[in-house]
Amino acid sequence: MSSISTLVSQLVRPEILALNAYHVPVSAGMVKLDAMENPYQVPQSLREEIAAVVSGAAINRYPDPNPLALKRKIAALLQLKSGMSVLLGNGSDELIQLLAMAVNKPGTTLLSVEPSFVMYKMIATFLGMRYVGVPLAQDFSLDMSAMLAAIERDKPALIFLAYPNNPTGNAFSAADIKQIIAAAPSLVVVDEAYYAFAEDSFVPHLAEYPNLLVMRTFSKLGMAGLRLGFLVGSELWLNELEKLRLPYNVGVLPQLVAEKLLDHHDVLLAQAEQIKQDRSLLLQELSAIKGVKVYPSSANFLLLRVARAKEIFEGLKQRGVLIKNLHGSHPMLQDCLRVTVGTPEENRRFLEAFNETITQLA
Ligand code: PMP
Repeated sequence: MSSISTLVSQLVRPEILALNAYHVPVSAGMVKLDAMENPYQVPQSLREEIAAVVSGAAINRYPDPNPLALKRKIAALLQLKSGMSVLLGNGSDELIQLLAMAVNKPGTTLLSVEPSFVMYKMIATFLGMRYVGVPLAQDFSLDMSAMLAAIERDKPALIFLAYPNNPTGNAFSAADIKQIIAAAPSLVVVDEAYYAFAEDSFVPHLAEYPNLLVMRTFSKLGMAGLRLGFLVGSELWLNELEKLRLPYNVGVLPQLVAEKLLDHHDVLLAQAEQIKQDRSLLLQELSAIKGVKVYPSSANFLLLRVARAKEIFEGLKQRGVLIKNLHGSHPMLQDCLRVTVGTPEENRRFLEAFNETITQLA
């Protein structure tokens, strides 16, 4: 009889055996600035409204597989034109997977840029798809000649562009993205996970391009715990993706709570506005520290480059502040750290711990 480990290594695909699982660090009791969450809860009165909705929820029943009221609210918020529709996912991670599954013929390529959101590559690997990551230019803008050459050479079926990009925080040039959409024989998904903190969107351009979809998530807008992402675009695309969606991918409670929160979208947007202001302050304060380079950001986090980044990350952790160490994750992110913008108090504690750590290391 074979041991379990022998069976596992015989039966599981080698590319999965070689993967490291997506690592979520322990954060209990820490100032948590590692995952681009909105640090604010909603006001007490709204929490009570949510509690009332939840207490009446039919959790003995399967969720509505097509929650029209929620979809209509999203469509109205985005001012979607007729012929455009909404597909809900269990977080946008799930939508990335659906998109990849839909186009994954043998030998198909998924293309994105690097450094960018790691799930694009991970999901391609999960599905045995070819993945091409085109390096960004040194200033983290799109390297258009490399992009157009890769599109010509690899003919990707699917392209993901995070707008703004994670982990660099910048929004690529909209003109460059349009050029890519126009040139590519591919489905191009503009991933607007950080739309609430950015100045621009591709939603108004959906009707101009037959190969464009826009993906968003509510995770960064105060609903990370609900797991709710959505794709918008032509029904012709979304109808095909619907076939792949597992019937009950979004639970009863996330549906109800999201609907309630969308009735108070202004509350969430006001929180995002506060985060944007605090982002400027944090950027100023960090830039004033000698040896720290901070990159401008259109998202709810800042990317910084500083010598001995890993030790600074560890020093912050010892002081109860959790951020993201990017050093070692990609050659262009050498000495880089990413910090989510928190509440003013959390940002102060982060800066204090940061200053203490660099003084200690000096
Ligand atoms: N896209 C980008 C660019 C992200 O940074 C993230 C989260 N880090 C996601 C998608 C996934 O978000 P979620 O699955 O929480 O909707």
